Amino acid sequence: MNCIFCRIAAGEIPANIVYKDEYMVCFRDLNPQAPVHVLIIPRKHIVSLGETEAEDHKILGHIMEKVRTLATELGLMDGVDGGFRLVSNCGEEAGQSVLHLHFHLMGGRRFSWPPG
Ligand code: AMP
Repeated sequence: MNCIFCRIAAGEIPANIVYKDEYMVCFRDLNPQAPVHVLIIPRKHIVSLGETEAEDHKILGHIMEKVRTLATELGLMDGVDGGFRLVSNCGEEAGQSVLHLHFHLMGGRRFSWPPG
């Protein structure tokens, strides 16, 4: 297995894991772009949102539903100004550098739009 995120999910290489269950693993990004920056990955090796299969709907739905809980537990929903950004870069043009589907869950600062 030479996918770094598969190896993190399998516990073969260390990561600062904040949540894991049978479908997904969530860990701190090594190069954070916000005070809170975690990556959410499916345990299954899916390359990107451009390469999902119909059978992945349960995994994807599970991850999307967990985002609310994770954001709350990470303190991103505190106060009236709470909020977060969820991003998944798909493909080279969008800046995807690790070819295992991941969602960047970021917060703790104000974000601008559009992204660069
Ligand atoms: P992307 O550019 O959207 O593919 O995002 C890949 C992200 O993975 C980047 O933000 C990297 O900082 C992060 N990253 C790469 N290797 C690791 C690692 N071993 N542990 C934690 N984050 C990582």
